[in-house]
Amino acid sequence: MEINRDKPFFVGNWKMNKSFNDLEKFITSIHIRDCHQWIAPQTIQLHALREMTKNKIPLLIGSQNHSHAKSGAHTGETSIDQIKELGLDFTIVGHSERRQMYNDSNKLIGEKLKLSLEKNIPSILCIGETLEQRESNATLKVIDAQLHEALNDISESEYNMLIIAYEPVWAIGTGKTASPEQAQEVHSHIRSTLSQLFGPASNRTPILYGGSVKPSNVSDLMSKSDIDGALIGGASLEAESYNELCQNGI
Ligand code: PEP
Repeated sequence: MEINRDKPFFVGNWKMNKSFNDLEKFITSIHIRDCHQWIAPQTIQLHALREMTKNKIPLLIGSQNHSHAKSGAHTGETSIDQIKELGLDFTIVGHSERRQMYNDSNKLIGEKLKLSLEKNIPSILCIGETLEQRESNATLKVIDAQLHEALNDISESEYNMLIIAYEPVWAIGTGKTASPEQAQEVHSHIRSTLSQLFGPASNRTPILYGGSVKPSNVSDLMSKSDIDGALIGGASLEAESYNELCQNGI
């Protein structure tokens, strides 16, 4: 499988929200649009959501995180083989909440990414600066370090299944969105760094923006040439706002 920027991506990250009883209502209320519609529920709901959607609606289901270890004594973790066994469509690695609350380092994130890409699972690598880093003009340096360290061991064929999500930490769950210009500046820098690392294949790589994306701001963000979609937290939780967001973003 090769990932490209043919259509916009709207990826919902449900984090540790929603109950099992909410799943069916979401699935039956969703409007399928001409875009990539992906949802990452909690690990414990992955199997149920997979079964509800499989061969029924083109909504792709993926995990929010997986272990850096292949198997063994890792209480509470989920292995990439278990994700593969469920037939999941994608995985997210390096979300800022994992980096900040669970100490996922660039090196560990690189190890997780290697495991998922070598299993041919499309993977979304999240990167982004804190407010302090932005205010000290370190944004592009931070982004480059995150990219270089996580992609260090990735081969050209594995790279074809990679998606980047630029998520400034100060914009996640805060209601403060990066302006389309601020986001575009970083997205274009990410593409040029990817081009140094992987050559022309970088022109096909989707780069998503994440951080308080809502139905009201998605179309301005999507008007920028290097913004290929969104990673969405809060506004993906209810089918109504997710539907509106996809409609406004395509
Ligand atoms: C996220 O969790 O990746 C995110 C961007 O959250 P929100 O849309 O709620 O800011």
